This record gives sequence, structure tokens and C-alpha cells, in this order.
Amino acid sequence: MREMDREAILAAVEAAGVVGAGGAGFPTHKKLAADCEALIINGAECEPLLQVDKELLHHYLPVVLEGTAAARKAVGAKRVYLTVKGKYHALLGEIEQCLASWPWVELVPLPDIYPIGDEHLLVYHVLGRPVPPRGLPLQVGAVVLNVETLYNVAKALNGESVTQSYVTVNGAVAQPGTWSVPIGTPIEEVIEAARPLVEPGSQAVITGGPMMGEVVDDLSEPVTKTTKGLIVLPRDHVVVARLSSEQALLRWAYSVCCQCTMCTDLCPRHLLGHPLWPHRLMRSLAAGGPLDAESAAGALLCSECGVCDQYACFMGLSPRRVNQVLKAKLGSRLNGLEFSWSEEARAGLADGRVPTERLIAHLKLTQWHQPAPLRGSLPGSRRMTIPLKQHVGAPASCQVQPGEVVEAGTLLGKMANGRLGAAVHSSVAGTVIAVADGNVVIERGGSDG
Ligand code: SF4
Ligand code: SF4
Repeated sequence: MREMDREAILAAVEAAGVVGAGGAGFPTHKKLAADCEALIINGAECEPLLQVDKELLHHYLPVVLEGTAAARKAVGAKRVYLTVKGKYHALLGEIEQCLASWPWVELVPLPDIYPIGDEHLLVYHVLGRPVPPRGLPLQVGAVVLNVETLYNVAKALNGESVTQSYVTVNGAVAQPGTWSVPIGTPIEEVIEAARPLVEPGSQAVITGGPMMGEVVDDLSEPVTKTTKGLIVLPRDHVVVARLSSEQALLRWAYSVCCQCTMCTDLCPRHLLGHPLWPHRLMRSLAAGGPLDAESAAGALLCSECGVCDQYACFMGLSPRRVNQVLKAKLGSRLNGLEFSWSEEARAGLADGRVPTERLIAHLKLTQWHQPAPLRGSLPGSRRMTIPLKQHVGAPASCQVQPGEVVEAGTLLGKMANGRLGAAVHSSVAGTVIAVADGNVVIERGGSDG
């Protein structure tokens, strides 16, 4: 890989459309434009059943480290930490061996607890510095980048755009695995590769993971840059019920919350000292009147990790859903709010741990918790639907028209100067047959089709 200066790295990452692969899709060139002291590679992957990071570290660690070297140069970090679950003994051995040639990277084994991959918790674990409420790791001198993001940074330096996403398919499937999937492939075709064990009529598919994911209503929806996991489960599985029934959960909140405080006692953000008390929110809702200001503001601090509803609440209630609804309704009105927070609360962090194995048993996922090895690349579909917005920010502005012939890697959408967002490229060769509803639809054909 050729030596590049900071500006060239940022330009290559922006041109390739790299976004945070493990989260909401924040444009990586914007993150790399910051100066920081510590760069943390997030290999925690704490959502049960997902194994993309583990597989990438096993198969492509040198590539991830090349991306890391470029990211380090861009942000000027003095220290680099590679975080991985300590339970992966064989993988840790491989990494230690490889890091002999990368002495500026420190391996940090992580406890097997949920949600240790949450940026705030991860930064606190690695640096011992709490990120302020609604704050960014940068405020305490850190930039956090996910393993696949750094893999994509390395590819970007070689002129390769982000056209594939690594996706684990797990759950009620005969062949669990992790595949490199062309962006735009319908989810149903990815699921088929893993050979589902449940009849389509009785099956539910969760995108994301069992804690923070969403039930997919339409399996023709495409894989995007941020699709990391597809979990197949019987439709009547408890995880599906909890992720689906928003209205019921909101209704129950008015009537049955017993104020046991377990949701607050185990809330990771509360335990970091942030002023968020999910049980008070539920009490305020049950009272029927207008929400008190503290509860409403606290909703903005929720990371939506799912500990309260998927693990803590024995009554099946969901402070998380309530927070989601409040955030959507109140978010912009509460912008600029100052939060006071407490150092003392962090004393509870050690007690508030949720061991992943216990979580998996609690979610009744033990039988579906299977290895998901890398099984290669999927070919994509005859017809690919590529969204122009797969990232935080505005949609990319479309650069192609129906009838136009494109190659794998052709620019489909780009950002106007200065606007937050990311470029979008075609994952296949073919012909654009439609540009509609924020998507570019491509019919396969040509050199790779
Ligand atoms: S854990 Fe459930 S029942 Fe207990 S306070 Fe929280 S929402 Fe209410
Ligand atoms: S989802 Fe629940 S446990 Fe997680 S941060 Fe939000 S309120 Fe706390």
C-alpha cells in the first residue's frame, strides 16, 4: 500500500463511501478529520449471535491493521487499542502473534458482558474516562472505529469502494455463517444461504441482533453498508414478541409497572453516571399526566441497548421503546439541553454487569447460539436495490439515470460539498432500471453479472 498523507487518506475514505459499519453509519471521513489521543478498535461485537468482527479478525487481521495505520495517521493518535472479547482464546493468540509486527497496537481483552461494545462503556473500560451524557468519545480524547470499518478504510486506500457488507446469519438455520454480501441484495436471498429451519409463514427475521435489532417486515428489503446480522427465529419466539409489539408495550407501561427499579439498576448508561432513570420514566407515564421534564430529557440519553426490556424487566415492559418514541417526538426540541451527572453512580458499574451467556439463556437463544464461520461471498440477486441513504446525514444525490449501464464500483450517489453523508456505489455490473423512493434499482448484466 502506498504511503499517503492525512489529506489523501481522508479523500480516499470519503470517495469510497466508508461509514461506521457497526452502528448507524456515521461517515468515517468525518470521524477521521478529528485529532485525538487514543484510537480504539471496537471488536467487542456484543450483540448475541453476531460474529462478523470475530471472523474478520481471524481471516483479515493484516488488512484491518493497515486500515488502522491509516486511521491512526489521520487522527494523530499516540495510542491504539484493539479490543476483543477475552473468551476468544484462539483468536487472541493469533492476534498477539500478528501484533509482534505492529508494536504500537495494544490488545485489550474484554469481559464477556453486554453491552461492552457500546462506545461509552468501551471508552470507560479502556481509558477509565466517562464520556459525558449525549457526548462523544472525542470529548475524552478517543475515536472509536469498528473492525469492519477499518477493513473498509484499508480497501479505500487501494481505490476500492464499499460495495459489500459482511453479514452473519444465525438462529434457526441449518447452516449458520458469515458472508460477504453485495449491497442491495434482498434479505430473503441472504437468509436462504443459511438454509432456514422454519417455514416462511412461521418465521421472523431480525436485522441487527436480538437486543437492539428490528423485525424485518418485508424480506425484499436490501442489505446495506450497516447490515451486520440477520437472525432467523420462529415467529412466536420471545425475542420477536418483545421487538415487535410497540403499542402493547406502551399500553402496558401505563398499567403494570411495579416500580421494582431493576431497569434502572441494570441500565448501563445510568451506571455510567448519566441522568437516566428508566423506572422513573415508567412511573411518570403511569401517572397519566404530562411527563416530568427530567424523564423526558433522560430519554435522549438512552442508547437503546435493550438491557431494560430484553433482560431486566420481568413484567415484559419496555422503557427502551418508550424512550424511542419520546426521542422521536421531543428530540429536536430538547437540543442544547445541559445534563448534570454524577461520578458516584459509576460505583454500580461492576454490579450491573450482564454476562452474555446468562443473557443468551434468558433470551431463550441457547439452542441458536452457534458458530457462524466465514463462508465466502454471495453472488447478489438478479435485481439489486441500492439505497442512496445508508448513513447518518442527508441522502446522496443520484448520479445515474434509468437506462444507464454501470459497473461494480460505479458512483451512484455523491454528497454536495460540505454536507454530512457518504458516497454510494454500485455493487454489481448491470443497467439502471429505476431511480425511485431513494433507491437505485439495477438489473444485473455485464462483466460480473
Ligand atoms: S423493570 Fe419493569 S416493572 Fe420494574 S421498574 Fe422497570 S419497567 Fe417497571
Ligand atoms: S435501553 Fe434501557 S437499559 Fe439501555 S440505555 Fe436505554 S433505558 Fe438504559
